[in-house]
Amino acid sequence: MNKHDLAIRLAAFQWLSDQVKVHGDVLPRPLLQKGFNYEGERVPLVAPQGIFKPRLLELPLSIATTPKGPYHDTFGTDGLLAYKYRGSDQDHPDNSGLRRTMTLKLPLVYLHGIVPGKYLALWPVYVVGDDSAELTFRIAVDDAKYLARPAEGDSSEDSINTRRAYIIATIRVRLHQRSFREKVIAAYRSQCSLCRLRHEALLDAAHIIPDSSPEGEPKVTNGIALCKLHHAAFDSFIIGVAPDYKVHVRRDVLDETDGPVLKYGLQKLQGSRLFLPQSEKQWPNRDALEWRFERFKTAA
Ligand SMILES: [Zn+2]
Repeated sequence: MNKHDLAIRLAAFQWLSDQVKVHGDVLPRPLLQKGFNYEGERVPLVAPQGIFKPRLLELPLSIATTPKGPYHDTFGTDGLLAYKYRGSDQDHPDNSGLRRTMTLKLPLVYLHGIVPGKYLALWPVYVVGDDSAELTFRIAVDDAKYLARPAEGDSSEDSINTRRAYIIATIRVRLHQRSFREKVIAAYRSQCSLCRLRHEALLDAAHIIPDSSPEGEPKVTNGIALCKLHHAAFDSFIIGVAPDYKVHVRRDVLDETDGPVLKYGLQKLQGSRLFLPQSEKQWPNRDALEWRFERFKTAA
């Protein structure tokens, strides 16, 4: 085993954790392709194939999925991720490499494709099972803090399984939220549907029917891309959107006098039309808008 193996894996985890601080936990593919420097050599984290081994390592460092399948198919009832072999040859170098990380208990990075070109990065993950009949590996996701101080964690089998079940439950919620956000923002071509602001860092996917309600499904048609200001104004019923996609500003706010943000950021929106996705199938659901607009009228 390459003596740098563990050091490179830990450097990858540190680099990822730095990137997440800057970009949030959904990372763009070009960033992952570029990777980081280890003793003067570039270590990318992703390549066109799903199982990826950088040149500096003997065994794979990351596994990636594409965004096509519904997320809930990814994790089995055992709380483990089912990861398909590369092709059908179980002895393909990528497959045997991944199998060796299982024997050696080496930590890996899992990149879950949310929308094309964007990944939720999870680490450390471990290959814990190999089902050659199904051509599938079983992957467990763990908590990074147990990697740093394994001695402090309770390492009994029960405790590990409880911890992993909890982690999977929180990951499911994150996948849900991140995938809703990315899909809505992509549908609106990364613009606020009220003011057309294009700064992705300032954009949110607002729920029309809140996700706390049973009807508040994480579908694009229950979402609108809004900038931070307009998201807050929409949530607090300062702005309402009628089922015909016309924008309404609350009466008392229209009557106020203040500086340019009030004037151009809010009052000028009165009577404008929502900027909509290109595909009509992604337009906000009119029943959901109506449900919401009734509440806006009550607030006004
Ligand atoms: Zn806006």
